[in-house]
Parts: sequence; structure tokens; C-alpha cells
Amino acid sequence: MYLSEIVEFGTVEQVFTSPQHPYSRALLSSALPANPRAQRSGYILEGEIPSPVNLPLGCHLASRCPEATRICRSEPQALQPLADGRLVRCWRVAAGDIPGWNDARKQAPAPSADNASVA
Ligand code: SF4
Repeated sequence: MYLSEIVEFGTVEQVFTSPQHPYSRALLSSALPANPRAQRSGYILEGEIPSPVNLPLGCHLASRCPEATRICRSEPQALQPLADGRLVRCWRVAAGDIPGWNDARKQAPAPSADNASVA
């Protein structure tokens, strides 16, 4: 959920192994991996969180989303079903033009062995 709206609804396995919504990806990217040498996606949200009493017209995440386009800022999106049965509230995911989670993870730089630590 983001600002009181469900942004992705699916099974635990779907959401945790292959998140589709940018906010789901950012949440999972912020979690520390059990293995400090594991590759992380680096999916980061920047910018201001909108006021909950003055929400933007379009997608509530648009001011912070690295995938945002013009339609995101002007048109609200409803939850849309994907082929695997989950529901996602995102124009670009619905259009199929955001790379898959595992593709995005492959593009992220691997952590250096020099600055990795094992607790
Ligand atoms: S609708 Fe646009 S701004 Fe909102 S999460 Fe999707 S890509 Fe990002």
C-alpha cells in the first residue's frame, strides 16, 4: 500500500520474488539481504511524499517514481489484472514496458568484495 491505496495484490511468492509495482520494488530493495554479497537492485525512490490531504491527480507515487511518464501525473490508475493473476496499480506495468524484476536486478552493480562484511 502507498498513501492508503493498494498498489500490488498477489501471493506472497509473486510479490516477494517478482515485484511488479515500482513501490513494491523499492520496499524490497530497502531490505538488507541475508547474504551481504547478494546482488541488490538499487531501486530507489527520491523526492517528496505528497500530502495525504492534498493528493496529486494522477498516480500518488508519480513525484517519486523513476518510471513516471506524463500520463502518470495526470490520470489515476485502477488496479489492473496481470497475466499471472495479481493486481497492480501502475500505467507502465499494465502496458508491459517496465523490465522484469530479475532483469532490473541483473543491471544493478554487484557489491564489491572490498566493502562487503559478514556479521
Ligand atoms: S503509474 Fe507511473 S508513477 Fe505510478 S508507479 Fe506506475 S510508473 Fe510509477
